[in-house]
Amino acid sequence: MMIKPDAIEKGHIGSILEKVTSAGFMIKALKLTQLTKRDAIKFYEIHKERPFFDDLIKFMTRGPIVAAILEKDNAVSDFRTLIGSTNPVEAAEGTIRKLYATSVGENAVHGSDSEENALIESKFHFSGREIF
Ligand code: ATP
Ligand code: MG
Repeated sequence: MMIKPDAIEKGHIGSILEKVTSAGFMIKALKLTQLTKRDAIKFYEIHKERPFFDDLIKFMTRGPIVAAILEKDNAVSDFRTLIGSTNPVEAAEGTIRKLYATSVGENAVHGSDSEENALIESKFHFSGREIF
């Protein structure tokens, strides 16, 4: 997962991590860092033809993010339920995006969309000695 720059600017790191651990996720790796433009382009490569791509890259690089590796049975699917829909207007009550997202673009958190991508993204953010 990542906590995105909007949520960090608003001081929500602690509240979001509390919701994540209360929902039964174990934190296996955690850091505050900032994506370079090159990192963000690589991370969101699948969206490069989308009209919002440039705004997405600017947003994701404008300040620090928190990256984390989470462990739980059924983690990918359960985490997406916990964060809610991409657009906070459509997100269910009590979800992280409903509580903390600003808009469809600035939506507080990222969750991997498959186990395969979770592994790729984990290696993108962390070295072996940072994973517990
Ligand atoms: P994420 O991958 O960040 O967890 P997601 O899987 O819910 O979010 P994606 O479709 O993968 O949504 O989009 C990636 C990110 O691109 C979104 O989280 C959002 O920041 C941005 N985005 C997606 N759709 C739009 C849109 N219509 N307008 C502006 N930004 C968008
Ligand atoms: Mg996605």
